[in-house]
Amino acid sequence: MATIGILGGGQLARMLALAGAPLGHRFLVVDTAEDACAAQVAPLLRADWRDDEALDAFAARVDVVTFDFENVPAETAQRLTARAPVFPNPAALATAQDRFAEKTLFRAIGLDTPAFATVDTRDELAQAVQAIGLPSVLKTRRLGYDGKGQFVLRSEADLDKAWALLGGHALILEQFIPFDFEVSIVAVRSRSGEFRHYPVTRNWHRDGILSASLAPFAAPSVEAQAVQHAHALAERLDYVGVFALELFVHGERLLGNEMAPRVHNSGHWTIEGTACSQFENHVRAVLGLPLGDTAALGRSVMLNWIGELPDANVVLSTPRAHWHDYGKSPREGRKVGHATVCADGAASLAKVLRGLGASLGREAQVAPVIEALDAAG
Ligand code: AMP
Repeated sequence: MATIGILGGGQLARMLALAGAPLGHRFLVVDTAEDACAAQVAPLLRADWRDDEALDAFAARVDVVTFDFENVPAETAQRLTARAPVFPNPAALATAQDRFAEKTLFRAIGLDTPAFATVDTRDELAQAVQAIGLPSVLKTRRLGYDGKGQFVLRSEADLDKAWALLGGHALILEQFIPFDFEVSIVAVRSRSGEFRHYPVTRNWHRDGILSASLAPFAAPSVEAQAVQHAHALAERLDYVGVFALELFVHGERLLGNEMAPRVHNSGHWTIEGTACSQFENHVRAVLGLPLGDTAALGRSVMLNWIGELPDANVVLSTPRAHWHDYGKSPREGRKVGHATVCADGAASLAKVLRGLGASLGREAQVAPVIEALDAAG
């Protein structure tokens, strides 16, 4: 029996603890919020990332430290390495926290990216737009998630607006990619270097937040390239644990958007859709245990509940649909739960989704997924 310390007490920590408990392991979660939703299933230590004394006490109580939140300061992670093994390692975390370092690494492993340039001044913004062209996307290098801290520049007039909003932060300008669709690959590397990956997942976003994921998303050429890049990233970073690589598919091009150094929302379907979920495999990886089977059992769709939960009973009474309520209070833009629907094939999954979407009044959310399933045959 080991105790796993998790920095961050949100739904990802909650699902890690729920996956690790059957293996006989315990968890200790650090969060500033008393109502952190992981605290409903694991002990909570209330502390700030900068509270060295509290974090030392935390490290003394755990066998290994990991994260549910990628923006834990890399210095905090680094400091903890003196007291407990920390996975993923702080250097990998630091790379994934900085969009410039991340995209530079993508290029170094041979993964194509949108053209990009750092921007620290208004003059540099003008120069970068000159070099990259319009439309383009201005993003904060750090602390951005779910489309926050971003501005799409469509005309010269947008430069001042974007600068008024984001100027003062370290920024990156990226070429806007009119992609066909977005995919991600969730992969895992263990302390012994064993590597596994889940099938490539197709993702749909609304207002910058993940709305739905479909897996496996059959496209053999994309799958092979995504696996190769995920493996190269894991090796280059000496990465231990689960991570997600988010990619744009544009014609024949596959471009790296970002990597998440943690279990990922686009991998929630693996709880019911595979033999060993991303959460269990993360626990196994950081403890140095053999990794579990990542193959998909049929097809799965995950629907995110943003802001508020729909009617649970509709999902609970749908065969092979699984309800997840994170125990959070409703708030606009907040991820409060999800559902995963599994089926043997595309046609049966589309049928269940159509019924579920209508009963929940969520037709718009399921429509693009049904369209993709219908196209897949
Ligand atoms: P990010 O926080 O970088 O993942 O961006 C959030 C979402 O904005 C992505 O999932 C895309 O839908 C969109 N986006 C981000 N960067 C670009 C880009 N360079 N070109 C087109 N769309 C983008």
